[in-house]
Parts: sequence; C-alpha cells; structure tokens
Amino acid sequence: MPPAARALHFASLGSGSKGNATLVSDGETHLLIDCGFGLRDTERRLARLGLHPKQLAAVLVTHEHGDHIGGVGALARRHGMPVYLTPGTWLSGRLKEVPRHEWITPQAMLAIGGIEIMPVTVPHDAREPVQFHLSAHGRRLGVVTDLGHPSAHVIQAFAGCDALILECNHDRQMLADGPYPPRLKRRVGGDWGHLSNPQAATLLAGVGLDRLQRIVCSHLSEHNNRPELALEALVPLLDGDESRLVVAAQDQGLDWQTIR
Ligand SMILES: [Zn+2]
Ligand SMILES: [Zn+2]
Repeated sequence: MPPAARALHFASLGSGSKGNATLVSDGETHLLIDCGFGLRDTERRLARLGLHPKQLAAVLVTHEHGDHIGGVGALARRHGMPVYLTPGTWLSGRLKEVPRHEWITPQAMLAIGGIEIMPVTVPHDAREPVQFHLSAHGRRLGVVTDLGHPSAHVIQAFAGCDALILECNHDRQMLADGPYPPRLKRRVGGDWGHLSNPQAATLLAGVGLDRLQRIVCSHLSEHNNRPELALEALVPLLDGDESRLVVAAQDQGLDWQTIR
C-alpha cells in the first residue's frame, strides 16, 4: 500500500553496508533516496511496500559509495526517472549514463512535487556527500547516515525534526575486536567514516527530542554492531518512551511510517 493520506510518510527498502534505499512520500509524490540494490531486488523490495518503480518521481543520491549508488543507474535507465545528485558525486564516475540528471546544491532548498528538500553537507569520505532534511504537510524528516562525527553544522540542520533516520553504525568495542583490517577499522571509526552508537546518541541529544515521533536506527554494521547495542545507547535519552525507537534492517528494511 503506497500511503495516500496527506501526511509525511517514509519507509526503508533495506539499510546497512550491503545496500541502502529510503522512500519518502507526501501521499502523492514518492521519492527514493539512494539505491544500493540490484534492479530485480529493488523492484521486489518496492513491491513489498506497495510501489512500482514507475510511481517514483525521482531518485536522490547522497554520495557515490556502492551501498548507496550501486543500483541507481540500472533503475533510472529501466524506468526513466530523473536522478538528483551533487556535481562531486557525478564526477566520481560511479553513475554511468542515465536518461536525465539534475544537480543538487548543498544547503540550497529544492522541491519535488509537494516535498521540500534541503541537502545538508556531512563529514564523510566521499567527494561531495550530502544527507537530506525533507518536509511535507508541515512535518519534517531528517535522513542522516554516513557521517564520521556529529558536526555542529549537521546538528543545527537537523534540529527540531518530527522523525529521524539516524546512523548507528558500530559499537566501538565490536569494531576494535572485529574482523576488519586495521586500516578499515581506522576509516570506519574515524572522523570521516561512520557514526558509533554513542556518537548517534550525541547527535540525537543535539538535535533535540521534543518533537521526535519516530527515531529509526539505520546503517547498522553486520560485523560491528547489534540492534540491542544501538537501542541501549539511545534509550536513556527517551524519557521512558521507547515506542518511538525502531530499527531498519538490511534484509527487511522498515515498513511505512506515517508522521501526522
Ligand atoms: Zn553507506
Ligand atoms: Zn558512505
């Protein structure tokens, strides 16, 4: 069921180092943010959420890492929707020919249908990475994964959201003890890599929880994190209202969430 109600809706096709894709909808316009899955897999995951690819108004790309851009080209060539990305992401060469692409300028608002989108620069080891603050029907969603630390710019940009898709990439001890080679451990744990669970908690406290109806733990590392460790880091901030907190999984993603 693609949601029809006039509200802000979102869902995840899947989240983690093997592929990411997020749906955002105002009930009429449906956008896909990133696509790290193969064409058939993406079509199957969209169908699970009640959508056909032809119903997507656009695909927005955050950055050129394969778990975000890997499936974008095939999807756009097969189904013809425009791809929005920064010049830096385009210049990475990771996206081959697509029928139409449009530039994203960081910190400059754009609108697609009734959805307003603010691309926000994040500290991550890609050419010109952004994440997105989206609004529709007076409700605000922050999508903030793939960043090495909760910078002041990011905290300010995502303050006061009604829902937040938040990277909880790794537990520091599991990363230190885990199977990654030392260079990769330094990259993931560094200031231009990915957020640890306590860093996610710092970001969450910084943006404020007063309006937050839904917090989605996302981009969990298969090797270096467990859902219960991510939840454990965030629960102390929730004043006992843990029902606001959910996890987006690599295989199952997350079903439609509606913010009114
Ligand atoms: Zn990623
Ligand atoms: Zn990345």
